[in-house]
Amino acid sequence: MNFSDIQFLLSVHKLSQLPDGDCPEIAFAGRSNVGKSSLINKLIGRKNLVKVSGRPGKTQGLNFFQVSEIDRLYFVDLPGYGYAKVSRTMQENWQTLITSYLENRASLCCVVLIMDIRHGPKQQDTQLLNWLKQKSIPVLAVYTKKDKISKNQSMKNALILDSGHGINAAERVLFSAKTGEGREELERALASFAQIV
Ligand code: GDP
Repeated sequence: MNFSDIQFLLSVHKLSQLPDGDCPEIAFAGRSNVGKSSLINKLIGRKNLVKVSGRPGKTQGLNFFQVSEIDRLYFVDLPGYGYAKVSRTMQENWQTLITSYLENRASLCCVVLIMDIRHGPKQQDTQLLNWLKQKSIPVLAVYTKKDKISKNQSMKNALILDSGHGINAAERVLFSAKTGEGREELERALASFAQIV
């Protein structure tokens, strides 16, 4: 599956701005700076369609991208969470927007939750995962920045993240935006979520 024929559609700051939910949607979530933009750019084969290392915590909307080659898939880049310098009010506003989007969007077929393979389980990721499971929203976990540690270490860390979050190995992908490792596996998983095999 090739996701490279893609363009930015719109940025949503309130639910009334959401486009019609007439095609499957895959949302990307993760803590600020986890490597979410880099992962999406690698997946679509672009250097900078999604801004890498923009100011973390800057007010952001839900950014919709249309994968046009197949004409029936949206990628939704969710604002990164957990950036300490953002005010509590702003975090709460984001959370309200994101949770109502995730909870009510019938066309959402998967949330890709990106985590840094170097770090142990983070409370906010655990909370989001548990909440998604409770809402029966399918999740694909991706442990990224794999190139930053040895193969041995990455296997160990992946198991720690798996057990910390109750994820089994078939439900996650190890990834590196730098080397492209895991890209094909991720493409296949997303294609099957969107049933566009
Ligand atoms: P975002 O805030 O989650 O969108 O994170 P970014 O994609 O902006 O990445 C944050 C920083 O991590 C940037 O300096 C990226 O170059 C770096 N980065 C992201 N993914 C990888 C990766 O897989 N390997 C390496 N070595 N660096 C990465």
